[in-house]
Amino acid sequence: MLKRILSTLLLFSFLSSCAPTPPTVAPAQTATPAPEAESANWWNEAVFYEIFVRSFYDTDGDGIGDFNGITQKLDYLESLGVDALWLMPIHPSPSYHGYDVLNYYAVNPQYGSMDDFKNLLNEAHKRDIRIIIDLVINHTSSQHPWFKDANANLDSPYRDFYVWANEPGAGNWHQGQNGYYYGFFWGCMPDLNYTNPAVTDAVLNVTDFWLNEIGVDGFRIDAVKHLIEENGKLENTPATHTWLKDFYTAYKTQNPQAYTVGEVFGAGSSVVNLYTGDELDHIFNFEMSSGFVNSVNGGANSGVTSAFKFAFQDMPDFNYATFLTNHDQNRVMSVFNGNTGKAKAAATLLLTSPGTPFIYYGEEIGMTGKKPDEDIRVPMQWTNAEDAGFTTGNPWRAPNADFETVNVAVETEDPASLLNHYRTLIQLRKEHPALLKGDAVLIETGNSAVFALLRNSGDESILIVVNLGDEPITDYALSLEESLLPDGTITPSLLLGSEQAQPLEITNGQFSDYKPFDELLPYETYLLKIK
Ligand code: CA
Repeated sequence: MLKRILSTLLLFSFLSSCAPTPPTVAPAQTATPAPEAESANWWNEAVFYEIFVRSFYDTDGDGIGDFNGITQKLDYLESLGVDALWLMPIHPSPSYHGYDVLNYYAVNPQYGSMDDFKNLLNEAHKRDIRIIIDLVINHTSSQHPWFKDANANLDSPYRDFYVWANEPGAGNWHQGQNGYYYGFFWGCMPDLNYTNPAVTDAVLNVTDFWLNEIGVDGFRIDAVKHLIEENGKLENTPATHTWLKDFYTAYKTQNPQAYTVGEVFGAGSSVVNLYTGDELDHIFNFEMSSGFVNSVNGGANSGVTSAFKFAFQDMPDFNYATFLTNHDQNRVMSVFNGNTGKAKAAATLLLTSPGTPFIYYGEEIGMTGKKPDEDIRVPMQWTNAEDAGFTTGNPWRAPNADFETVNVAVETEDPASLLNHYRTLIQLRKEHPALLKGDAVLIETGNSAVFALLRNSGDESILIVVNLGDEPITDYALSLEESLLPDGTITPSLLLGSEQAQPLEITNGQFSDYKPFDELLPYETYLLKIK
């Protein structure tokens, strides 16, 4: 607590080029209760929705999205069917994105007050929607009072909160007032020193505050592979894994229902698998994400099939998070050059596969966006009114020009829209245990443009068939060499698709040359319940 008070007192004075916006500090209040957990690990049965608060919905006309805006749109989020929200950084920060924090105990005043945030949390929990927040702990802002004091005074109590050297070494070093400091991403983002137990204590005070005083449901941990550099190695070090094991024990003690999901960009499943289980609850499966997107974009099942084979090998319990694209990548609709058929097929892969799916705001309506980063984080398109119905003021950044046709209101009215495809798939995922938590078996399709997957859970089996290509397909045949399916002739019931499927013959748990339909339509999804 003393450190917290000190942090507050030290917050003001903006001198460097890493110019901050002024923070506010709100008093702690009582936590709102999270929804009752139906199973030990609620996150394994959730669909998440990633929100950039600045761009979601503005309620006070200042052109900046806010907590009250999310609260007002909870009905929409409930109708979409999502169970949990990931809010990108909500702390005071000098940057528009917030990935350089000034004060871990306050909220960005541009987004509202702590009371506004607590109201959002309370209203979300009433709807059984949980909220996790970005926890950016690899580094702070260079304007954070810890760093300002550490930089100015060699005898500062915060000097060892950061990584210092007399000469720049391996990696990204920056000249400070007294020596060089390490900042992997940027000079304005000095790395915290996790070999100092006081830093670990400080971070655990932060997690305790948000979990127990405020009541959030967990954290998305930014840049987790970079936490500790060791012997010249800059990422995925043994020291980082050791630290995370202690961190896991600590935050689960603070709240056993708290969830963490880590960003480990660029590593294969054999590396990221090391982070799950006793370090973080989940990591994002970037390999699976590329598999989904590349398979749909190339009209060939090899990408997603390969990602599944790595998952079967390295993460067979599917304890990972999936997504199409996130706030750091070109939006999937832009990758697909605006092709709605492709966007639907990709949504199918995401929402019928194992793993906990994350949807990036606007993805469900087909919002486009290519880098620079600001352009993949533009205002949500709600209506065809001025500025896409995002604000009554001047938006912090202009919405996409296509908002008159691509928006929530228009797509809600169109049964064939991408938005309603997302709603249907999320609903099916909730209603069918095989889709929600079943195992997964790849099905041979005899055609590289056809992807098929069998999901099994208890007494339910669902066959997913997707035409990844832009042409109708008649030349395909599904086969499976081994399964626990009962022998006999099955008449599948169609959960998604437009015509009755042919009966399926199963002998010794096998089937071959099965064509549920004579023709698979371009980008079409077929879901068949076969048990
Ligand atoms: Ca606002």
